[in-house]
Amino acid sequence: MFDKQAYTVFKFGKRIDQSAQNKRELLDKALPALRELFRLDRVYFFDWQQERALLSLKMMCKREYCMDMQEDISVLSEPDFLKELLRDGIADSTDLNYPAVYVLLKWKRPMMIMDGEEVKNVIKTRLGVLRLERFKKERVFTEKEKKLIKGVAAEISRNLTRTEVGQHNQQRLNIATTLNDLATVFASSLRLSDGLELILQGVQKSFRFDRVRLYQTSHDGRKIKSVLGVDISGEVTNQTEDDLPEDERTLLRDIFDSGEAYRVIHNVVYIPLKVQRNKVGFLTFDNLLSRRRIDYLDFISLKQFSNQIALAIDNAELFERVQELSNYDELTKLPVRRFFAEKFADEMARSKRFDLIMSLIILDIDLFKQINDNYGHQIGDWALREVSQVLLTSLRQTDFPCRYGGDEMVIMLPRTNDDECKIVAQRLKDRINKITIPSRYTDGKHVTLSISQGIASFPQDGQTPQELFDKADKALYWVKNGRRGTFAVYREVADDLPKEK
Ligand code: GH3
Ligand code: MG
Repeated sequence: MFDKQAYTVFKFGKRIDQSAQNKRELLDKALPALRELFRLDRVYFFDWQQERALLSLKMMCKREYCMDMQEDISVLSEPDFLKELLRDGIADSTDLNYPAVYVLLKWKRPMMIMDGEEVKNVIKTRLGVLRLERFKKERVFTEKEKKLIKGVAAEISRNLTRTEVGQHNQQRLNIATTLNDLATVFASSLRLSDGLELILQGVQKSFRFDRVRLYQTSHDGRKIKSVLGVDISGEVTNQTEDDLPEDERTLLRDIFDSGEAYRVIHNVVYIPLKVQRNKVGFLTFDNLLSRRRIDYLDFISLKQFSNQIALAIDNAELFERVQELSNYDELTKLPVRRFFAEKFADEMARSKRFDLIMSLIILDIDLFKQINDNYGHQIGDWALREVSQVLLTSLRQTDFPCRYGGDEMVIMLPRTNDDECKIVAQRLKDRINKITIPSRYTDGKHVTLSISQGIASFPQDGQTPQELFDKADKALYWVKNGRRGTFAVYREVADDLPKEK
């Protein structure tokens, strides 16, 4: 037997199934179709917020047009009516003086939620209600019609689920693409600060937040090292801890201490950035200016992305720290040979290109082995530190000293000729001669330090870093050969040096 109802529902389904992008588009099709099918005067659509026992009016369709509406209707006072609607899926109105029925829509919406630190995909059941109205008293809804209304409502519900799933997938795809783009930019930027700026601009642009900020903190989370911000115009601002109001600093500390995965205060979202136990900083964003709601999916995605940001910052910091550490000698705090070699090569190239002069001093502590032998290694170390201290405090800002190895140190002096170099050498000699080993270690003897120095200058003595170094070293050798405690300029002693084979 031909099932007329099933056929009608089928036809209705075909009519509204035009791959709507979102719920609103779907309802825009479904409501007029309903009105026509049942010859209604008016149709309302409500979102049913069960937890608040509210029907939120969202849309109204009358004659040919639909319009968005916004009105909350409390249904707390109608428990019997609600029970009936939930049980049967359909219920007659009790409060209107014309025929109207309520019909339940029930569909599924995939969502991402935060469960502690974890992001989970869940499927939520959503409820909605349609109210179908006829203004003429005599045009009551028959039982047969009500059965058909339920069938059609079920068809709308199915379509709503399909639309929500499609929309969710599309959104996730968009966000995944955006985050992937951002991560690529991040990974390819050379310096951390550049990378962070790009990332923040990217986040601001992609998610269209009014303002995104990145606070970098010390690892205990107590000190804010910097605040990088990007506002709606894409402009980057840079602040320090001192620029922040006290209550903001307290707030940040409080969020760290609470161990929360995020916090929302006055519509500003704060996401703490951590790598294991290390605190890295905060990512915060808001829509304070435009007063737009922050999309939950955006928030969840950023929360996930923030882990990557935290990791990248932590890595970069570690790298910078190691770099920093490995550039300086532990004992003397002077730059190490490798670091010096880089600077020396750079400076030499610059001097050549711009026709500038520069000089090099190699110095070596005299009879240092004896100090070690006589008073112990610890006194030897102390002496090395004292000499280094003299270097660090006696040179120009542009001069660059290094511990070349053992008791040997090298100083590069850009834009300095050998006459000026002699003045520097004399100053170092005098100051180092004043270093006296504490008499309690020397049985009361007065033991002082002295250094020998060799000097060479660019361009006269050599054209490459190696040549210049060799010449200064030869001058030093000349001094060590019976003239300890003094200094010499290569050109002035060259004739006196053993001839090269
Ligand atoms: P010269 O006047 O010819 O330079 O005599 P010297 O005894 O200083 O000879 P040399 O420069 O060859 O000896 C360097 C000594 O420095 C050898 C080594 O035991 C010592 N030394 C190198 N590095 C350190 C260090 O880090 N701490 C201490 N205490 N001694 C060091
Ligand atoms: Mg020595």
